[in-house]
Amino acid sequence: MTLAERAAREKTLESAARAVEACRLCTIGSTRTNSVFGEGDPCATLMCVGEGPGETEDRLGRPFVGRAGELLEKMLAAIGLAREDVYIANTVKCRPTLDAGHRLANRAPTPDEMKNCRPYLDAQIDVIRPRVILALGAPAAKSFMGERFSITKQRGQWFEGPFGIPVTATFHPAYILRQTGGAMSEVKRLVFADLKAVRERIDAAPPPPPTLEQQSLFD
Ligand code: URA
Repeated sequence: MTLAERAAREKTLESAARAVEACRLCTIGSTRTNSVFGEGDPCATLMCVGEGPGETEDRLGRPFVGRAGELLEKMLAAIGLAREDVYIANTVKCRPTLDAGHRLANRAPTPDEMKNCRPYLDAQIDVIRPRVILALGAPAAKSFMGERFSITKQRGQWFEGPFGIPVTATFHPAYILRQTGGAMSEVKRLVFADLKAVRERIDAAPPPPPTLEQQSLFD
């Protein structure tokens, strides 16, 4: 990847982030504190897609920075990847909330919110063109594989995602954190198997086609 290509990708992502910042298609566009566009290596081989920003992410404008984010970093480290090596995004870029009386609580994004936000996610995938997309949790998985997808039965299986990119799903780090005792050990074992398969797929994927600049060396 040339420096020029990397810079071009960064620029395209920055302009998409500005479009997200200005977006008010959903009501959560007006209740959020910050939009959470996504972050990471614009040339990443792996893109992780979560459900949507929570309270900490909304406050800081960055994805996966709460407890789930800490666990996600450990999961990535288990397959030799640092947070900075991957690109992290969500199906929706604004925090879905519900009024719980004295405070705002997190909730899952609605199908309409996911639909409204989809062009932004697709734009990110189109720019980054990762070798693998990893959906974290059922809502993100369903956004790629369809409503009938079952995270318990179909996690770890491979599907064709946007632009023909292989996509797979595993349990969401927040779900893992909610488990206790033997159930947690079992979920961690399954997640590690999924992550190992992701690593193998990244390593096996053919290198991206040469850029025009590289090709012209042989003209
Ligand atoms: N959970 C998500 O799905 N995304 C985040 O960014 C944080 C927590």
